[in-house]
Amino acid sequence: MTTPATASALLEVKDLYKTFGPKNGAKHGPVVAVGGISFKLNPGECLAIVGESGSGKSTLARTLLRLIQPDSGSVLYEGVDLVRMTGGQLRQQRRNLAMVFQDPYASLHPRKTVAALISEPWEIHPELVDKSGRPTRIAELLKQVNLPQHFAELYPNQLSGGQRQRVAIARALALQPRILILDEPVSALDVSVQAQVINVLMSLQERLGLAYIFISHDLALVRLVASKIAVMNKGVFVEAGDTQTVFSDPQHEYTRTLLASSPALHEDPPANGAS
Ligand code: ADP
Ligand code: MG
Repeated sequence: MTTPATASALLEVKDLYKTFGPKNGAKHGPVVAVGGISFKLNPGECLAIVGESGSGKSTLARTLLRLIQPDSGSVLYEGVDLVRMTGGQLRQQRRNLAMVFQDPYASLHPRKTVAALISEPWEIHPELVDKSGRPTRIAELLKQVNLPQHFAELYPNQLSGGQRQRVAIARALALQPRILILDEPVSALDVSVQAQVINVLMSLQERLGLAYIFISHDLALVRLVASKIAVMNKGVFVEAGDTQTVFSDPQHEYTRTLLASSPALHEDPPANGAS
């Protein structure tokens, strides 16, 4: 299912496929991780992608950025197909999309300071900030993710999980992207710090007008942050629409099962009891 068409889509994904065969390391025959996904994302919008583990969410996220090469389909950023680009052209366009991974312990190099980590994207895109402007820009980015200035000199092992994830967000913002792809951005964090990171993300979205693709299996969280939702199962979107509509009147059996198995939602059941 696709989201309704609009002329102003920032990102338009059409019929995207990725199958893992034995030569990609799949153990049992080919696995269709992404089996024909299409959707649109408008500027400033937050689209949640939900689904249980193994449904293909991370593979989808990575194919959007060409971290994994899709087998077929298109990823149009402002009408330009990232799937068909190479070299410098791809680098320039891809900068508009940045990713934050689930595990802030794995995604930050342990021997680099926070300042060096945030500067990493500028090695590939030196045009974004000239050398003399970098300290000021790093200070600004730390402020945007609510971290104190002296954190610039610290190493990842001196930070908590939530602080690390905020550094990963600052590094993503260093690219000045228009879209952030957040793959389970708080799932690896203690519940007590999840809210801090979510608050940072929500205020950034508002201030910078960012569009988010927010991957999560936490339906209570999705309901809070996302205006649109796509439910993914076995490589396809089985249902997509406005978050409130999907929560109150789920159309697909899989969506109903997912909603029914989410404990945090039971205190506030959908008005249109799906049975
Ligand atoms: P999710 O993020 O929703 O948990 P994934 O995208 O990680 O799902 O995985 C979707 C399917 O693709 C799973 O069956 C997984 O085992 C398979 N898969 C993911 N990455 C690879 C890979 N590099 N090689 C082989 N199979 C993979
Ligand atoms: Mg995943």
